Amino acid sequence: MTLLSYPGNDPHGRRWQLLAIGLALLVITATLVLSSRGTGASTVDGYRGFAPSLAAPEAVVQVNARQDGSASAAGMEAIPSLQSIWLDAPKIRLRYSRSLSSAVRAPAAIANREPVQTQAPRLVLREHAITVRPGDSLSTLFKARGLTQKSLAAVMAAGKSTAVLSRLRPGDRITVYTDEAGRIQGLVHARPRGKTLNVARDGEAFRTGVNARPANADLADLADLALTVTATADNSNDWFERHEPTPPLRRHSVSVGNGDSLYSIFKSNGFPLAELAAIVKASKDTRRLTRLVPGQRLDFHLTADNRVSKLVHYLDDTRTLHVDRNGSGYDSKLVHVPLDSHMATAAGTIDASLFVAGQRAGLSNKIIMQLVEIFGWDVDFALDIRAGDRFAVVYEELYKNGEKLKDGNILAAVFTNQGKTTRIVRYQYSDGRSAYFTPEGVSIRKAFLRTPVEYTRISSRFSRSRKHPRLNRFRAHRGVDYAGPRGTPVKAAGDGKVDYIGYKGGYGKTIVLRHGATYTTLYAHMLRYARGLRRGQRVSQGQIIGYIGSTGLSTGPHLHYEFRVRGVHRNPLSVKLPRAAPIEKEYKQDFLVKTRSLIARLNIISNPTLASDERRLTDSH
Ligand SMILES: [Zn+2]
Repeated sequence: MTLLSYPGNDPHGRRWQLLAIGLALLVITATLVLSSRGTGASTVDGYRGFAPSLAAPEAVVQVNARQDGSASAAGMEAIPSLQSIWLDAPKIRLRYSRSLSSAVRAPAAIANREPVQTQAPRLVLREHAITVRPGDSLSTLFKARGLTQKSLAAVMAAGKSTAVLSRLRPGDRITVYTDEAGRIQGLVHARPRGKTLNVARDGEAFRTGVNARPANADLADLADLALTVTATADNSNDWFERHEPTPPLRRHSVSVGNGDSLYSIFKSNGFPLAELAAIVKASKDTRRLTRLVPGQRLDFHLTADNRVSKLVHYLDDTRTLHVDRNGSGYDSKLVHVPLDSHMATAAGTIDASLFVAGQRAGLSNKIIMQLVEIFGWDVDFALDIRAGDRFAVVYEELYKNGEKLKDGNILAAVFTNQGKTTRIVRYQYSDGRSAYFTPEGVSIRKAFLRTPVEYTRISSRFSRSRKHPRLNRFRAHRGVDYAGPRGTPVKAAGDGKVDYIGYKGGYGKTIVLRHGATYTTLYAHMLRYARGLRRGQRVSQGQIIGYIGSTGLSTGPHLHYEFRVRGVHRNPLSVKLPRAAPIEKEYKQDFLVKTRSLIARLNIISNPTLASDERRLTDSH
């Protein structure tokens, strides 16, 4: 760099070596224009201390030159945000701040008595302000703005510090400056509370500089950019050209209502239907947008002319679909953020109902229903509950962004019914399946549902001898009749295979299921079978196999249900039901290890004696 000398600080009064270098700058929020048209050479005719005032048609620039050869310039109106200026004949390097937003009128030419003609192209810079969104990369951002991959490579090659550009994070801010030819002149990357990287063109290549982010809030928008400007003597005072900033995107949130479709939403908001088509066909994920669910939220980011620049589809509590304009089409990305899980516990004693006691213990209906479902294999909550029954439960609470969203699964629980205590613990298999077992690994599930249908009443019980209502003679009733509305679904009582399906005399439409070598179940008088059900087909417990009807010898819609053990009819309401298979051998060790701490926790919260013993021990100290 050429060391400048200046009379204000030099007793010999050496003159400026520079001639008529016009310099101008304007940075407004969105557009920077550097212009170099001038009216002619001017002379420097005065200095004020270290701030020589440069004579010019509308001289407003002051240059503070320093002994080390650098200089800073200060304009009378807005130039204070000009950070510094280096004079390096015949070039002037500027560092400026984008907070320089007021209209700066014609800073002066910096002049010398001996004009030196230099050539400089008119330089108009366009600013692209970008906030990095999830899924963005520098490559996609460049592509979306028509910037070449070659220029990307040149920027990346500028120095080691550009590595940060290959690891963009949502919220990072990037400002790209391009000239009229679309060439990148500079790029600024700023990370919130991080450093700012400057990349500036230097001939055909780029160079870099890194600054710690200034603490001053006013400078938070700082976008340093080192530019090399070569100006001619032919300068006018029309230094600046104001470009309207790119209008910010407008955000429009839509809550999906009943009957809404993406089409109806586009139509009612006047969004271009061509864009709807482009969005929907963008990817497999964007096709979900044709199946909106009431209550979901859509965020549209819109340009001033109501074009969709970005669409965010909030699918559920954990998944968000981002659709971003990319040229004439759209890119999409599905973002999954799992909820945070925290463990919660509760315990209570029942005096009237589990529901009331559960609520008193602070449990949500969701957790209470899970308790009923889990212990329902062993306890009939309508008939078996007694005052003094106790429960304790360890369950998940799910949080999003630090706020509780909902309850998750029961992880462990204990239930004492009429003096008999059952403990259960949840085990999650590596493939995502989960099941409840006793601490010893015995399944909480029975191999059979006690009742394979939701019934209104039991219209006939199992008996060795009863008078048949239609035949009007005494005959054994070897099953249970569950009366219920016509069309009520009938479920397979256990895993098995369809052994018989068809019309069977007085039984009407009938299905017989075989469950291994020992058990068969029979379902009669059905209205119809489940669609597609065939003999020999496998069914799983709870699967719908047909619907309540009144076919065959029947006085009204009901399910006649039989349960046979080795061919012998047993009373379905009282037969001892076998447990479902225990935890598989290969998972047993993992099960015992993973559930140990849950069971210990459960024991502490469920044992009032233990709890009070602990208190006594503490009190005695
Ligand atoms: Zn019957």
